[in-house]
Amino acid sequence: MKTYPAEPFKIKVVEPCKTMTREERLEVCKKAGYNTFLINSEDTYIDLLTDSGTTAMSDKQWAGMMIGDEAYAGSKNFLHLQEIGREYYGFKHIVPTHQGRGAENLLSRLMIKPGDYVPGNMYFTTTRYHQEANGAAFRDIIIDEAHDSQKDLPFKGNIDLNKLQALIDEVGAEKIPYICLAVTVNLAGGQPVSMANMRAVKELAHKNGIKVFFDATRCVENAYFIKAREEGYANVLVKDILKEMMSYADGCTMSGKKDCLVNIGGFLCMNDDDMYTRARELVVVYEGMPSYGGLAGRDMEAMAIGITESVDEGYIEHRIKQVEYFGDKLIAAGVPVVQPIGGHAVFLDAKLFLPHIPQEKFPAQSLAAHLYIESGVRSMERGIISAGRNIETGENHKPKLELVRLTIPRRVYTYAHMDIVADACIKLYKDRGKIKGLKFTYEPPMLRFFNARFDIAD
Ligand SMILES: *Cc1c(COP(=O)(O)O)cnc(C)c1O
Repeated sequence: MKTYPAEPFKIKVVEPCKTMTREERLEVCKKAGYNTFLINSEDTYIDLLTDSGTTAMSDKQWAGMMIGDEAYAGSKNFLHLQEIGREYYGFKHIVPTHQGRGAENLLSRLMIKPGDYVPGNMYFTTTRYHQEANGAAFRDIIIDEAHDSQKDLPFKGNIDLNKLQALIDEVGAEKIPYICLAVTVNLAGGQPVSMANMRAVKELAHKNGIKVFFDATRCVENAYFIKAREEGYANVLVKDILKEMMSYADGCTMSGKKDCLVNIGGFLCMNDDDMYTRARELVVVYEGMPSYGGLAGRDMEAMAIGITESVDEGYIEHRIKQVEYFGDKLIAAGVPVVQPIGGHAVFLDAKLFLPHIPQEKFPAQSLAAHLYIESGVRSMERGIISAGRNIETGENHKPKLELVRLTIPRRVYTYAHMDIVADACIKLYKDRGKIKGLKFTYEPPMLRFFNARFDIAD
């Protein structure tokens, strides 16, 4: 029988979970325009909206907060972060930013010229936004199987090297400033990339004079999957796997709010000295001095400590297996989910869950709203609403995957919470015929999923 490890921590501080009646939740949901982003945390029972910044910090991290050096320049916490960043990620330079998208903004501005192409293994919302806003066209070069929610592959986040070669042949390498390789791939369901694939991508890219930047947001989760699934890594420490992964990149952007186990923070890394000089020039415009990048000294300290904790073998095994435990329950009950279960979340396949609702009526958005109404569990849409519109034609992007993401915060909930959420999803699946689609009542022009409002469609 499959076993799941107990929490490798004990609980020192608690925050009560609030319960409400179904009528109260229906009222809240209507007021929020059926958008779970617009529901207050206070009105949520179990909050699986995101794993971003929702981590419970350790006692060591909180102790680190007390030794924040809030000097405007040259904070000792920056020096600590720099040292830890070099040791664990292996890049020569680190530029702190307020969160991941701050680093994406810098990278896109530094590398992209109008008319360029940036290939990636599926898009991410803020990442693609910054690429397009700087004049690049995004091209998806992930393997085809990643778009099939039911295909069970160990490394479903891999880049298809033929697609990369085809793009090079089509537009020319000089039009491709860098490849954006996400480890793991959030929108594919938290699917990992194999070490062999990273190695091959770097080889092909460098042969053509193209750089490789990782979206390292969930790189430690990816490292654990390599340990568990890729030949030759079973006995290698996650810490060493992470360092090898990073050796196949020229740099990375990082949302520290995920795998660095902090509530706020991020960074941009690179090896190139000239690029670092230009990044230092740019960061002062958008974030702050290169030695704080929009963060308080204490935040950088917590992030440095979080990086060391993130590669703890017990921590990361429990992290991945807790998510798997939840997914396994849904699979056993026949609820359609993306398979295999990814690193940070379980994704309901809304097209299979609600086959009676066409994609134009936003099945995933509706499913997320109804899960909240029925159970108080908050999730988010990752489908046609998140994909947004083509920046030139104004047409809706129509992603193959129409998903509801139930994201597990790190070190926050227990297996008993996972049981409650699984039962709520199973019950909703049994009653799925009652769920209707939605229509927009307000559609923001960019990153619309954050603030959009809806009503029940006829
Ligand atoms: C969260 C996330 C980002 C952006 O990071 P923020 O810290 O939210 O700005 C970028 N890429 C991926 C894959 C993410 O999940």
